[in-house]
Amino acid sequence: MAQAQLLIDLSAVQHNWRALDAASGASVQTAATIKADAYGLGADKVGHALARAGARRFFVALAEEGAALRAALGPDLPIHVYGGHMEGDAPLIAEAALVPMLNSPAQVLRHRAALPDHPFGVQLDSGMNRLGMEADEWQALAADLLAGECRLVMSHLACADEPDHAMNARQLAEFRRMTDGIGVPRSLSATGGVLLGPDYHFDMTRPGIGLYGGRPFAQARPVVRVSIPVIQTRLVRAGESVGYGNSFVAPRDMRLATISAGYADGVHRALSGKVTLWHGDTPCKLVGRVSMDLLTIDVSALPDDPEMLDLLGPHQGVDDLADLIDTIGYEILTSLGPRYRRIYQNQ
Ligand SMILES: *Cc1c(COP(=O)(O)O)cnc(C)c1O
Repeated sequence: MAQAQLLIDLSAVQHNWRALDAASGASVQTAATIKADAYGLGADKVGHALARAGARRFFVALAEEGAALRAALGPDLPIHVYGGHMEGDAPLIAEAALVPMLNSPAQVLRHRAALPDHPFGVQLDSGMNRLGMEADEWQALAADLLAGECRLVMSHLACADEPDHAMNARQLAEFRRMTDGIGVPRSLSATGGVLLGPDYHFDMTRPGIGLYGGRPFAQARPVVRVSIPVIQTRLVRAGESVGYGNSFVAPRDMRLATISAGYADGVHRALSGKVTLWHGDTPCKLVGRVSMDLLTIDVSALPDDPEMLDLLGPHQGVDDLADLIDTIGYEILTSLGPRYRRIYQNQ
């Protein structure tokens, strides 16, 4: 089988959720953000595992994601949609009992016209200028919205992964100014905000990346391992070139393994010349360019030809890979793509 494996440790996801839950007070509900198919890991499996660990509320980005999650999870647990109520969403929101987080006066009008008695939440902009109502819009609508089926009022922090950033306190003060005394549950924090401490927790937190083992949750247990099968090995003589563009020329005789994953599997082409794979504790460098389906790896240091090499594992986590190409663990996870055989451990 040439299909690469993405091993997902569901007990590590559960452990990370419990640890983030323990980081906030007993009166704070810890929800879970499982948008983008649980950051690429499988929202149905991850959702079930988190529900078994005690999570009682989920957040996704789109109504379509919410409807798929509802089918997987059953009728009981609330599912919120960050993108709010978009044109055409009403049937999904109604049938899947989703809670759209209304982001603008236009979304309020749309929701009221289509589903006047259906629960909703409100997202406020406290300074990030991405999603949510501005202070004046909220002021005009708040009394009316809070008298209706409003279940949650939330905002989102722009710099929570930098604890000393002045923006955190600014957004906290603005969120307080907009929402103190409203009498409806409030939420400000994702993973980074949970770690900023109790001032940032309000009634509910909604971590995502920390559940999947990513920064800024430094204590997270690693969740993923990516193991890639070797298709063939060959001896390359000093002076021979390897791969597209002849970009690598062997400086000495080398043993190379050609393995079955490439940029179509989230091994970003920018990793060409930079990434190391692992066989147990032995590092094996990529040589030449990343192809769509293939990588060529220097396995000269191994006593025998390997069957598999690890891209992600004990020696290299999602953030280590991200650092090599100036991106973030979130992008590494969500880029892994559909071609892996996803194997769930400890479910
Ligand atoms: C993605 C997202 C989250 C989760 O963020 P993490 O940094 O992954 O914990 C929470 N809230 C909003 C609005 C989001 O878009």
